[in-house]
Amino acid sequence: MSCLFCRIAQGEIPSTKVYEDDRVLAFRDINPQAPVHVLVVPKEHLSDLNDLSPERQALGGHILNVLAHLAEQEGLKTQGYRVVANTGENAGQTVPHLHFHLLGGRGFGWPPG
Ligand code: AMP
Ligand code: ZN
Repeated sequence: MSCLFCRIAQGEIPSTKVYEDDRVLAFRDINPQAPVHVLVVPKEHLSDLNDLSPERQALGGHILNVLAHLAEQEGLKTQGYRVVANTGENAGQTVPHLHFHLLGGRGFGWPPG
């Protein structure tokens, strides 16, 4: 298996886990862009949001629930936070396994650069 986040999800490559269940893994980003920077990935390989087809609606909803849960767990619920899913070339996606960034602990500009 060559996909980096599949290998992390299988435990073949170490990560700093902050949440895990049967469908999802969350771990700290290796190159954090904010005081809190967590990645939430499905254990099933999906390349990006385009793979989150209507049959996977429940998985998508679950990931959003996990993101909200983690925001609270990381102490971000009151101060606010950002969730990002870079998708494809124009968004600068570098790892072709669907992932959501949870970023917090500082302010963010808008629109993004
Ligand atoms: P993206 O650029 O949206 O595809 O995000 C990929 C993210 O994965 C980047 O923020 C990287 O810092 C992060 N990343 C790459 N390799 C690892 C790793 N082994 N463990 C944790 N995060 C990683
Ligand atoms: Zn994968």
